[in-house]
Amino acid sequence: TDKQVDFSEKLHPQSNVKKVIGVVSGKGGVGKSLVTSLLAVTMQRRQHRVAILDADITGPSIPKAFGLTEKASATELGLLPVKSKTGIDIMSINLLLENDTDPVVWRGPIIAGTVKQFWSEVIWSDIDYMFVDMPPGTGDVPLTVFQSLPVDGIIVVASPQELVSMIVAKAVNMAKMMEIPVLGLVENMSYFACPNCEEKYPIFGESRIDETAKEYGLDVIAKIPVDPRLASVCDRGMVELFIGDWFDSFGEKLDGNENL
Ligand code: ADP
Repeated sequence: TDKQVDFSEKLHPQSNVKKVIGVVSGKGGVGKSLVTSLLAVTMQRRQHRVAILDADITGPSIPKAFGLTEKASATELGLLPVKSKTGIDIMSINLLLENDTDPVVWRGPIIAGTVKQFWSEVIWSDIDYMFVDMPPGTGDVPLTVFQSLPVDGIIVVASPQELVSMIVAKAVNMAKMMEIPVLGLVENMSYFACPNCEEKYPIFGESRIDETAKEYGLDVIAKIPVDPRLASVCDRGMVELFIGDWFDSFGEKLDGNENL
């Protein structure tokens, strides 16, 4: 590939990861972790071996969404990820900290170093798709983390508000700088679907994603509604039970994408 750095040698000798997809957002709280989880579950439902590397070190929300209670275990050979109920391999800082509520107050280089270790010291066995929940934003930390991992493609998540600002442009330009293909945009909290009348209410303003995607020559991957059931499955650690077909056609496309 045309990647500047060859990371394959730095992967743990017992690991095998075919595709690495980074999920990014211009800022926190837009649903990046939720989208990472939904993507992983979608590909898992498509019969793939899936992993999530939670690189959002200062705001790790993946273990909670999957209801993981076990900690990661260290063996002589390396760290073992924790398996979710349906068999997704997960590594997150919260699986290593004794106390989930301990704040992580590390600086950028330490965070990037930790993410690098998640790549090189964890045994990822036969993974078809690894989804990386990236740190939010386009500052120093996400940039350094980007440079620490061999990301094959990125997905940009935004809510309708960010789509009207420059935040998405910054995320797209960061990916361009790294020469990583942008696989597409996801608009989260796109609308509220009335459970009674099937009407879609654009509670955060009219959707701007088609316009934004066109402007940057990108694909629209999905428009996810504000759905209390989504928040609820995440809160209860049952994201694997989500109901929705938002990523089905993207999953199919991903499977057919030989260039990735
Ligand atoms: P980020 O990773 O961007 O910081 P999260 O994925 O952690 O954001 O989402 C923030 C909060 O909003 C979580 O509690 C999540 O369950 C909730 N949330 C995100 N997207 C939706 C949605 N489409 N519908 C309902 N709740 C959502």
